[in-house]
Amino acid sequence: MSQPELSRVCSEVQAQLPSYVDRSLSRVRRRLVGLHLRRCPECQAEFARQREVSQGLAALAGPPETPPEGLLSSLLDQAANPGMKGRAAVPARGAVSGARPALSVALLVAGAAAGTGIGYAGWRGARATRRRLHRNG
Ligand SMILES: [Zn+2]
Repeated sequence: MSQPELSRVCSEVQAQLPSYVDRSLSRVRRRLVGLHLRRCPECQAEFARQREVSQGLAALAGPPETPPEGLLSSLLDQAANPGMKGRAAVPARGAVSGARPALSVALLVAGAAAGTGIGYAGWRGARATRRRLHRNG
C-alpha cells in the first residue's frame, strides 16, 4: 500500500460526515464526530470539503420558497376579516384543486393564521381572568 492509510476511527468518522453535514446524525454520533474533528486535521479537511459540496448543492437548488410579502399580508387581512374578501378570493372550488398550488398554500396559511388568532384570544382571556381572581383574593 503506497497511500497513507486512514485510521479506523478516521474512516468511520468520514463515513458519517455526509449525515453530520446535513444534520441527520443522532446527537450522540454528532458529538463523537465533533470531538474527533477538533483534533484531526485530516477529517476536518474532509468535513470542510463535504460542507462546501452540500452548500453548493443548496445554492444550485435556489433559496427556500417563501410567499411574496404582498401575498402574505393580504392573506392575513383575509384571516382577520373572513367576510367578502375571503369569499372573493375563492371563486370556484374546481379552480383550487391542483391547477393553482399557490392558492392552496394561501388557504393553508390563512387557516394557520386564523388558528393562531383564536389561540391568542383564548390565552388573553385566561390571563385576564386569572388577574381578576388574583386581585380579589
Ligand atoms: Zn480523523
